[in-house]
Amino acid sequence: MTCCAAHASWPQMSRRALFGAVALGAGVSLMTALKPTVAKAAGHTEALLLTCMDYRLANEVEAYMTSRGLRDKYDHVILAGASLGAVTEKFPAFNETFWSHLDLAIQLHQVHRVIVLDHRDCGAYKMVLGEAAVKDPQTELASHVKQLYALRQAIVTRHHHMEVEIGLMNLDGTVTQLV
Ligand SMILES: [Zn+2]
Repeated sequence: MTCCAAHASWPQMSRRALFGAVALGAGVSLMTALKPTVAKAAGHTEALLLTCMDYRLANEVEAYMTSRGLRDKYDHVILAGASLGAVTEKFPAFNETFWSHLDLAIQLHQVHRVIVLDHRDCGAYKMVLGEAAVKDPQTELASHVKQLYALRQAIVTRHHHMEVEIGLMNLDGTVTQLV
């Protein structure tokens, strides 16, 4: 009798479990539907972007990359000072972080281009190089060019076939491309 009672109750429990699974499945489907984008399977991508951490330009950086047709097509490393963070002797841990992430981006996503975007009125430049290095727009530009050139040279020395773009973002989000 015990055996038969157990069997008798089984179909009911099974239906309850099935209902739970369906409800859970429906919830997952709804969450997926509400999510605006779904990450694609990992593969190769276009570029690695290096920018400063400055909160004022987060949207502008994303808008710039979208305007370049690179939305969702780049890895992103953020270091205070961008190029300066990658090369300054004052923050060796920043340097190491950049190089290890570049190596990973090459290994995981086969990136073939590095885009380095410094920005004007950068607090890291003032802190590391001093106010005199950014005292007026021309001096500020020259200070960025020096660091950006140094990083570009270091990248192509390590990775001969890597394309390197360098630029300086203004506070309105426009970018001065440098050659
Ligand atoms: Zn900055």
